[in-house]
Amino acid sequence: MDFRLLCVHAHPDDEAIWTGGTLAKYADQGATTAVVTCTWAAGTRRAAELERSLDILGAGAPRLLGYADARNAASAPGAPRFVDAPLEETVGRLVAQLRQFRPDVVLTYDAYGGYGHPDHVHAHRVTLAAVEASGYDQLYPEAGEPWWPRAVYLATFPRELVEQHYESLFGAPPGPGQALMGVPAGRIAVHLDVAAWKERKWAAMHAHESEVGRGASMTLLTSLPEPARTQLLSNEWYRRLPFTEERPLSTTLEP
Ligand SMILES: [Zn+2]
Repeated sequence: MDFRLLCVHAHPDDEAIWTGGTLAKYADQGATTAVVTCTWAAGTRRAAELERSLDILGAGAPRLLGYADARNAASAPGAPRFVDAPLEETVGRLVAQLRQFRPDVVLTYDAYGGYGHPDHVHAHRVTLAAVEASGYDQLYPEAGEPWWPRAVYLATFPRELVEQHYESLFGAPPGPGQALMGVPAGRIAVHLDVAAWKERKWAAMHAHESEVGRGASMTLLTSLPEPARTQLLSNEWYRRLPFTEERPLSTTLEP
C-alpha cells in the first residue's frame, strides 16, 4: 500500500487513545505510519512509554517537538510550554516533520481537542497552519522541500454516543450548560471499524504505565461496563478537511 499517514498529537498516550486503532489497521495494511508528539522531551519517562506504544502500533520511532505540557513543567525541562511557544516556531517545527515524512493524510484532533485540553486545542490549530504552510516554497525554506498533504482528518466522537455513555463514564449526568465532547453525528465524515485492532490499541494504551497509574483517561475507560468499553475501543471517527484540487477548477464558491 503506497500510503503515508501521519498523526499529530499533544501528549504521549493520545496516539493510542484517539488513533490507536487507525494506526494499527493502516500499518497492518501496509501503509507507512508515524506520530508527531508536541509535548514531553526525549529522556523523560513518558517519551520512553511512547516508544513502546508506537512499537505496538507499528508507527516507527517517536517524533518529539520537545515542548512542555501545559500542566507539567517537568515534561520538558528548560523548554517553553507548547501553548506559549511562538506560533512561527511551533508551525515551523511541524512543517519540518511534514516535509521530512511527506504524508498523504494527516490526523489530529477536532477544534475542541477532543475534550478541551489546551494542548489538544493548540495541536489542532498548529497542525492546520502547518499543513497548509508545508506546501509553500516561500515559507520555512530551511525546513525542507515543500510538501502538500492531501487531506486532514480530525479525530472526534459522535455527540450522541457521548450522551449515551456520559453517566457511566463520569458518574453523573452532565450539568446544565456543560460542554460535551464530540460533534453531531451528521458532521462526521469517516467511521473506522477498528474492532480487529482493539487489543493492540488497548496494549498500546497500557504501554503508558505512568498514565494508567495516574488515573487518567484509561481509568475512565477501564471503569466502563464491558459492552460500552468495547464499543468505544472498536470505533474511531473523523471529520475531513480536503485540501486537494479533486474537482475541476470552479468559477463559483459552491459548497
Ligand atoms: Zn493529551
